[in-house]
Parts: sequence; structure tokens; C-alpha cells
Amino acid sequence: MQQGTKPEPPPENPVPEPFSLSACALESAEATNPFTNARRQLDDAAAVIALDPAVLELLRWPMRELHVTIPVRMDDGSTRTFHGFRVQYNDARGANKGGIRFHPEETIDTVRALAAWMTWKTAVLDIPLGGAKGGVICDTKTMSKGELERLSRGYIRQVGRVLGLEKDVPAPDVYTTPQIMAWMADEYSFMQGYNDFGVTTGKPLAIGGSLGRGDATARGGVICIREAASELGIKLEGSTMAINGYGNAGSLAHKLSAELLGINVVAVSDSKGGIFNPHGLDYVAVVEHKRRTGSVRGFPGAEPLANGDLLELDVTTLVPAALEGEITCRNAQRIKARIVAELANGPTTPDADQLLREQGVYVIPDLLCNAGGVTVSYFEMVQNTSGWYWEEEAVHRQLEKKMTAAFRAVHDTALRHDVGNRMGAMIVAIRRIEEAMRLRGWV
Ligand code: GLU
Repeated sequence: MQQGTKPEPPPENPVPEPFSLSACALESAEATNPFTNARRQLDDAAAVIALDPAVLELLRWPMRELHVTIPVRMDDGSTRTFHGFRVQYNDARGANKGGIRFHPEETIDTVRALAAWMTWKTAVLDIPLGGAKGGVICDTKTMSKGELERLSRGYIRQVGRVLGLEKDVPAPDVYTTPQIMAWMADEYSFMQGYNDFGVTTGKPLAIGGSLGRGDATARGGVICIREAASELGIKLEGSTMAINGYGNAGSLAHKLSAELLGINVVAVSDSKGGIFNPHGLDYVAVVEHKRRTGSVRGFPGAEPLANGDLLELDVTTLVPAALEGEITCRNAQRIKARIVAELANGPTTPDADQLLREQGVYVIPDLLCNAGGVTVSYFEMVQNTSGWYWEEEAVHRQLEKKMTAAFRAVHDTALRHDVGNRMGAMIVAIRRIEEAMRLRGWV
């Protein structure tokens, strides 16, 4: 495998100084680099449990990276060169696992951070997988379906050699879909010479997808919100929610929060802007509006609302469901929600996380809150391996079990160490990965 650009060497003393507001006020561009943040979260948790420095050093680095160049024939007959990555962060507990993002601002450091978070996430959920992430720098909004298909196949032709059910299994993420997973599984099957659909998850049902995968991320998040509210003694029926980001996870969180918990979703937004109605937004009507116009913006019967203002609304539950780095030092102190349920990956910077904790906000960290997706991906892998396909009810039942057990582990660990839930989740994950690495003789 081609060796990627090396991340910068670790600082001499990787354990950061204790948090201070002045450091927060100085939050720099570097602090919004997701991989810097991911490492800081790791270092902070390692300091709390006095982690063996050898284990920490290993966990601070991706184990493998592949950087690829993908030529794609565009509709006008020209050839365009795209760049992509696959980062296999750590597979001590099982095959590498994690989505592929198509995004114009994708960077190797973002993919590294997301791959690290996948590693912690699969460990928090106690599923026998490691962590990986892929990314391609592209703007899907300006590409035709044909161009997208050729890019997806081109990516697999380059990356396929390091993928496979036993090695590394991609899934959908930001701007990638079940259709894209289908093209990728098809291309990989031709590379193998037989149908090997288990190489991706989040596939359509007709080619080995799992029932219940489509709304799994949102469903897992809703289970966590329910558990958190019960811990905090909050009645969710009729309570309010704001959702920033209206892709798969955000929009289905709207649907399921209303359907399963009786929550009144009063504000939602996407990359073009937000909408607010204190009496609640009807899921079916908003989704239909977005389907017709391409955005939730301009939805009749709601006021327009800037994304930044949505985050600061006085609601019971705030759901960041867009990209990383949405909640920073600049807005954390103005957040009024009792519960922040992170459906996005990495939406809160470490300093902002500390501020939220000081304000008494109950944060359900991404490593737990959005793990429903990869959990049902794991069920999909089990089904692909055994050839026996589960009923939707069985998927829901197993997801419920996994999510509630992980919630308990995180909540109890955080209480025991008197730390926030993100640190609690990190501690649960690190301990499990450490055990696997020790048993395998890596440390
Ligand atoms: N992209 C999702 C995540 O960040 C799902 C990953 C997967 O199913 O492998 O968790």
C-alpha cells in the first residue's frame, strides 16, 4: 500500500494543559482541524485513566493510509482528475469499518479524524470491528448521475485492493448513498470475479442490504435521547427539538423523534438555511418541500432562521446533524438546550465540549449518539456472511439492545470518573481496544 503523507510528529508531552477559558478564547484555526481535535480528545481521556504511553502512542496514529488519484470521464468528453483517501485507523478488534464521504472540502486530516472516531465508535458499541474512513474531494451537487457512477467505480478500482468483508468495509456517509454503495459493490464484485456484495454496507435491499439500515443512525440517536431524558427526569412528550442538518440522519431524526417520542420539532436547517415554527414542523410536509426545491428554506408556514441562530434556540434537545466543528467556543455559551444529541461526527470542538459541561448541558457524544448506523451495518455484514436475512423487527430489537447497553456503559463510566460523556465514551473505547491490542501482542 502506498504510504500517505505522514501526520505531524507527536508533541513531546502529548497530555495537554488543563482547560482554561483564555485558551478557549484563543481557539485557532488549528483547533478546528478535526484530527487535532480527535487527538486532543484521546490525549485528555488517556490522562484521566493514566493510559500506558505505548498504548496511547499507537492510538494517536492511523495504522494505514491510501491516497488515490481517480481519472473520470465527464459528460462533456473531458477527463477530470479527482483525489481520494482511505484511512484504516485501527483494526485491533476486527475488520476496518467506516463510511466514505464525497465533499468539496474533504482533507486527509478530516478523514483521519473520522477514521479515529469510527475506531472508538465500534468499540463503544462493542461490535467486533475496527475503524476506517474514506473521502473523495468532489462536489456531488454539480455532477450528473453518470459522472457520480464513474467516480464511485473509479474510487473502488483504486481502493478495492485494500477492501473486503474481512479487511475493510465502507458505508454511506456525507453525500454518499445506497445507490453509490451498490455501484461500488458491483465494481468490486467484477474485480473479484464473483458477487461479493459484503464489501460495502448501507446497500439497497435487492443486493444484500439490511432492513432497518436506512433510518438506523437516527433511530439509534432517538434511543439515546430517550435514555438521557429518563436519566435527567425530562418528559419528552411535547418537548421541543431543533435539528441542524437535514440529510439522512437529520431528516429521519425529525420523523422518529415525533413518531416515537412525541417531540415537537420546531426548527430544522440544511446548508442553504433554516426554518422555525414554535408550533412544530410537519415532517412529511418539510421533506416534500425539500424534495421539490432542494432545501428546507422557504417552507411555507415557518419563519426563516439562520443556522447559527438555530443552534442557540431555547429548546429541550438540540441535534447537530451536519458536519464537524459546528459548536465551538464562539457559540457554546449561548446554547440553551438541556440535551445535545450529536448525530453528526465531531460537531463539537473540545473546548466547546468543556463549556457545555460547565453549563450543565447533557451531551450525548457522536461516538454513541450516531452509532446506530454502523451497528446496523455490522448486522448487514453478519447477514451477508450467513446469507440469512433478518426481519426488520429483529434489526430494531438488536439495535435497541446494543444502543441501550452502550448508553449505560458511557453514562456510568462518565459518572465514575466524574467526566463528561465524551470522555466516558473515550474511556470505554480505549479500554476495549487496549485489551485487544494486548491480547494480540501489539503492546
Ligand atoms: N458513516 C456512518 C458513521 O459515521 C456509518 C458507518 C458505517 O456504517 O460503517 O458512523
